Amino acid sequence: MWFFSSPRIVYGEGALSNLVTIPGTRACIVTDIHLVDVGYVRQIEELLQTRGMETSIIDQVEPDPSIDTVKVGAERMLEFEPDLIIALGGGSVIDAAKGMWVLYEHPGIDPESINPIDEIVLRQKAHFVAIPTTAGTGSEATWAIVLTNYSERRKLGLGNREVIPDLAILDPEFIRNLPKDLTAQTGLDTLAHAVEGFTCTYANDFCDGLCLQAARLVFDYLPRCYLDGGDLEARTHLQNAAAIAGLGFGNAMAALAHGMGHALGGALHIPHGQAVGIFLPYTIEYCAQANEARYAILARFLGLEVGSEQETAACLTEAIRDLEQQIEQPLTLQEAGIDRVVFEQSLDLLVSNAMNDTQTIMSTRIPDEMDLRRLFEYVFQGKQVDF
Ligand SMILES: [Zn+2]
Repeated sequence: MWFFSSPRIVYGEGALSNLVTIPGTRACIVTDIHLVDVGYVRQIEELLQTRGMETSIIDQVEPDPSIDTVKVGAERMLEFEPDLIIALGGGSVIDAAKGMWVLYEHPGIDPESINPIDEIVLRQKAHFVAIPTTAGTGSEATWAIVLTNYSERRKLGLGNREVIPDLAILDPEFIRNLPKDLTAQTGLDTLAHAVEGFTCTYANDFCDGLCLQAARLVFDYLPRCYLDGGDLEARTHLQNAAAIAGLGFGNAMAALAHGMGHALGGALHIPHGQAVGIFLPYTIEYCAQANEARYAILARFLGLEVGSEQETAACLTEAIRDLEQQIEQPLTLQEAGIDRVVFEQSLDLLVSNAMNDTQTIMSTRIPDEMDLRRLFEYVFQGKQVDF
């Protein structure tokens, strides 16, 4: 038995106007300070105030949000008592807001204990709307929550089906001005979700089509978005791709690129999309040895010339690295600016974080400690190793 969960999704130009369709009288907007500065928060507030709603803003969510950020936000919510929570931001903001929502409804819960098994019983106090301002994490369409434990330098992959938003608003207006590097990094996160949702051990009939289409949309539209941020048609398709991939991997799982990417993000704070983008081709090479047929379906769907199934991994990784070069992203950890000494000092932690990540064990081929060590070495400098 398994489930398929989705928020109600409204997408395309003018989608924001649907914010007024969710009932409420007191809205708490969770966001980051940059989105206040560029006026997006004011725009949402004005829309809510035309409905006579009172608003409160939590604008202190940092990239890779901490447990403390979630606790502080929940305390603010307990004071204000919203019946509507609006997460306006990228994956960090949306994930943090989901965590705050859980603690607001149930102040006794330890955020690190949020899991897919236990019932939480949400929506007794508030509904939840997600408005993404990046096109990548797909958090607006998933029940995942990724938080960071800074003292242990590791990311926590949490989640529960109940934290899926009630409404996701994909309005391209909010990603029109996304900077080039964020466009590239978050776009690669979408690609990693699509590839891993399609190839992980939890892949399933409901998610396959979503993952395939999301991957194709990234190849078709990410370079256009990168070259011309004002290309609203490309932005719209890429924003759709992020949510589609979110549904795809969110109702399946991710895999090794995410396990290693979370490890790197927790230990060395490399942005999530950049980290998984770097790892993706290497982990395909590693995992495809266990299930070439699956990667062949994906490669052929993308229109790649695949001769035999044995050539699939090389064909797919070449296409991904070609895409990464088009959007000027690093192909190795060294190119991402990680110092050799820092890398070696962190290697034990990277390996143990990746071993313990919930996504790693969803790979079609699960690496042991020695293989992970070799994989990290391989990704550091890009020099081929044998597995
Ligand atoms: Zn991701």
